[in-house]
Amino acid sequence: MSVFNLKKQNENLDFKIVAGLERLSQVFRILLWEKAKEFSLSPIQIQLLIFIKHHSVDKTTVSYLAKEFNFTKPTISEAIKILEQKNLVKKSANTNDTRSQTIQLTSSGEKIVFETENFVDPLTKIISGVNDSEKVVLWENISNLIIKLNKQKVISVQRTCFNCKFYSIKAENHFCNLLDQKLLSKEIRIDCIEFEVA
Ligand code: SF4
Repeated sequence: MSVFNLKKQNENLDFKIVAGLERLSQVFRILLWEKAKEFSLSPIQIQLLIFIKHHSVDKTTVSYLAKEFNFTKPTISEAIKILEQKNLVKKSANTNDTRSQTIQLTSSGEKIVFETENFVDPLTKIISGVNDSEKVVLWENISNLIIKLNKQKVISVQRTCFNCKFYSIKAENHFCNLLDQKLLSKEIRIDCIEFEVA
């Protein structure tokens, strides 16, 4: 039975939710393509620049980026090579592993990130208008969906509380042992700087 069979889909709420999520995934693709055309880059090149800008150097090796974006290492290497030729990134020796290099933004790369990372703005504006209690429910559902997809190995890298060695449940509450504090549902993170794999 297909989610995309309209007769079945319109009789079944589960199917409609999945079809709706598929429609939403198109939004990011469309918005990213608009930026890609404007700056003569591919969507993955823009995503790489934005990721490199906001993550520590240990996460900017070709191997890590390949896992993060679910691409092969040769595909990421090729994208990085083009970004290097455009003077948007530069490579440095990896102090943790002499066999690989880390990738940093040049000042031109920083400028491109500044101009492109707002590609999500149309969606951010809509979410900002949702009331707080609805946002919490939305966030709980999204974060649960992400962790379940991660457990099914559909999404490979997840730096979320639920996968973190500092996460526990205390008195039936989410708890971070690093921050030494209870985490409300809205405080659960999906990309935490302090994350360490459990
Ligand atoms: S360190 Fe970050 S990811 Fe880990 S439990 Fe605490 S808040 Fe969550």
